[in-house]
Amino acid sequence: MDKNGLGHVIEFVRNDYLCKVLFINLIIHKKMVSYKDLGLVNTKEMFAKAIKGGYAIPAFNFNNMEQLQAIIQACAETKSPVILQVSKGARQYANQTLLRYMAEGAVEYAKELGWEHPQIVLHLDHGDSFELCKSCVDMGFSSVMIDGSHLPYDENVALTKKVVEYAHQFDVTVEGELGVLAGVEDEVSAEHHTYTKPEEVVDFVTKTGVDSLAISIGTSHGANKFKPEQCTRNADGILVPPPLRFDVLEAIEKELPGFPIVLHGSSSVPQEEVATINKYGGALKDAIGIPEEELRKAAASAVCKINIDSDSRLAMTAAIREVFALKPAEFDPRKYLGPARENMKKLYKHKIIDVLGSEGKAE
Ligand SMILES: [Zn+2]
Repeated sequence: MDKNGLGHVIEFVRNDYLCKVLFINLIIHKKMVSYKDLGLVNTKEMFAKAIKGGYAIPAFNFNNMEQLQAIIQACAETKSPVILQVSKGARQYANQTLLRYMAEGAVEYAKELGWEHPQIVLHLDHGDSFELCKSCVDMGFSSVMIDGSHLPYDENVALTKKVVEYAHQFDVTVEGELGVLAGVEDEVSAEHHTYTKPEEVVDFVTKTGVDSLAISIGTSHGANKFKPEQCTRNADGILVPPPLRFDVLEAIEKELPGFPIVLHGSSSVPQEEVATINKYGGALKDAIGIPEEELRKAAASAVCKINIDSDSRLAMTAAIREVFALKPAEFDPRKYLGPARENMKKLYKHKIIDVLGSEGKAE
């Protein structure tokens, strides 16, 4: 081959190589979406402010439009920062991609409602594998939870560390968990509490590099958080649950001063919603939650994220049951989902203003 011919071959191979690199880059970048481009924020600054200010950020789960509208309306009206949570069940029900686009839409919707600087986090609730957390980071979530709490300690550390190392490259914050909550939430379930061991928290946080830590101090997933035999009954026959273990929380705070702590399973199970549900044909027996005074007390401490899901389900169900019972001829979904949305919004505002204290913290 002459000198010129060889040059052409080299040029061709080089161009071919560059094309392939460009193509692969295109694929990678097309797949990667940064939450920053969606107008979302991570939890870092939000938590730092919440600890300093003695309040907690509401973490509301969503899996449908009415819930999301109610959350955003409530937060826009109260100017409260918020964490939108997507659980495993929500991903299966509504589709992870669709939920991500809904969250992106929520930012724009919040602005339309007059909330100039919405502080909205899109968070994966109870991520159970590195791959799932990675896929959420890659598609624009600003925060993920990796829940290795059911694993042996060293495996929890290794898995959490792996997720942190990936997520932090993209400024995505990570929540880990130590200790196990009782109760059932989507596919997360456990028979008994295993309280977080305060002597483990420093080692866990140091080794993994997590940004926040979910702990177990007696909160519980679901609407039946406690068995009647664990409770006492007040004068009205309403079950009173055992108190949260504030001694464990205090011991953890002592070990990790100023570090963001998270409470899962913190619905209060409003008895008026339970009564409405049962009045109109429901059958919720001994549904019981965490008293709001206890959550208020926790919010004033290093607890800066409080997860609330069941309460919104109850508010929605109560409103729908009432319409079905009182207007049996109604068949336009907007006529029962509309009141459901209103009832959820009322609940969210109550939590923000009266329980968590996050009103006006994201002007
Ligand atoms: Zn949870």
